[in-house]
Amino acid sequence: MKEFVSSWMDEELAMHRQAVARFIETDMLPNDARWRAEHNVGHAIWRKAGELGFLCADIPTQYGGAGGDFRHEVVLYEELARRGITGFGQGVHSIAAHYLLNHGTEAQKAKYLPQLASGELVGAIGMTEPGAGSDLQGIRTRAQRSGAEYLVNGSKIFITNGYLAGLVMLVVKTDATQGAKGTSILIVETKDLAGFRVGRFLDKIGMHAQDTSELFFDGVRVPADRLLGGTEGRGFAQLMSDLPYERLIVAVQAAATMEGALEATLAYAKSRKAFGKTLMEFQNTRFKLAEIATITRVARTFIDSCIQQQLQGALDDATASMAKWWATDMAHEVLDECVQLHGGYGYMSEYLVARMYADARVPRIYGGTNEIMKELIARSF
Ligand SMILES: Cc1cc2nc3c(=O)[nH]c(=O)nc-3n(C[C@H](O)[C@H](O)[C@H](O)COP(=O)(O)OP(=O)(O)OC[C@H]3O[C@@H](n4cnc5c(N)ncnc54)[C@H](O)[C@@H]3O)c2cc1C
Repeated sequence: MKEFVSSWMDEELAMHRQAVARFIETDMLPNDARWRAEHNVGHAIWRKAGELGFLCADIPTQYGGAGGDFRHEVVLYEELARRGITGFGQGVHSIAAHYLLNHGTEAQKAKYLPQLASGELVGAIGMTEPGAGSDLQGIRTRAQRSGAEYLVNGSKIFITNGYLAGLVMLVVKTDATQGAKGTSILIVETKDLAGFRVGRFLDKIGMHAQDTSELFFDGVRVPADRLLGGTEGRGFAQLMSDLPYERLIVAVQAAATMEGALEATLAYAKSRKAFGKTLMEFQNTRFKLAEIATITRVARTFIDSCIQQQLQGALDDATASMAKWWATDMAHEVLDECVQLHGGYGYMSEYLVARMYADARVPRIYGGTNEIMKELIARSF
């Protein structure tokens, strides 16, 4: 099949892609089985990614970032997703950094962005609670102002990078009598923080290398200058304004996952024999792969157009929501077919498509469920 090169790629990005791919092949892939067994990737790989300039690639150099643009970020998401590396929660790390970049005070940006770019701090986002997921206005984690501090009580669940995170962008109620207007984001440094506790690694059906955890806050004291942007009640607006960017990241990952799965399944179908032929010689295999290749290409071209819109600052919420629900639903369907074409081997975790199949279920749920995406699209009519 003729190689498809995205219109936003150029020579410099092709070199960046090669360097990223080399890093993943040498420093990540050999460790992935151990990471899955240990349910986290450890701190060393974050620092190495930071040293190589792969973290916060689109954050300005004045804040320690690499000074690139969204395309440099995309290259990392794509190369990870194509190889089924889902333990390294770069998407969430980057989203945390962008909350700071877009909404933080100058002092907050200067203090935290360089540490996120170097991998010294791993970033997490604490929104979801046991009683509030899609309906974020229902969160109960309370931050009560007391002199120069906030007193934080509550808990969060399903937090990506939860175990490794040194910095949590914590969504809290600063005024319990208000809905959205009583919500704020606190920048919480977790190291040696009294009253803070990370729960067990949550036992998931996929993404085994990802340290998804519960976080508990019991009388935690956070200095008042860690209020994102310095004004209470802005949390909801801050979250909303960054949503298209976050949804596009999930869609980019889904498109690249399909590409990686297609490549692996093509190779398998060409080599595996049954009834004296390769699987590829059966018409069903050829038709299924033709369908997968078509869906994958349609996803690629739509996601590429969203990437272009994001680069121009023109990606709207409805379009990003379309990309998120459709690409993640398609990735799930495609992976199901890829597993089927692998036969019993497709159900074995040592095979890429088996791991991708399990991992592809949850992007339909996180980053805003696909039902919520459709609500948002419908609201734009
Ligand atoms: C592996 C993993 C990683 C995650 N990482 C993070 C993270 O880093 N930070 C974080 O804060 N959260 C994270 N989450 C949480 C995730 O964002 C939520 O699970 C998600 O938003 C859904 O919330 P919920 O689980 O409470 O489901 P609910 O909101 O209870 O939804 C249950 C069902 O009802 C549907 N539903 C709800 N409201 C509506 C509606 N208005 N119309 C139609 N259908 C509706 C939903 O679509 C869903 O199908 C993660 C979750 C997982 C599983």
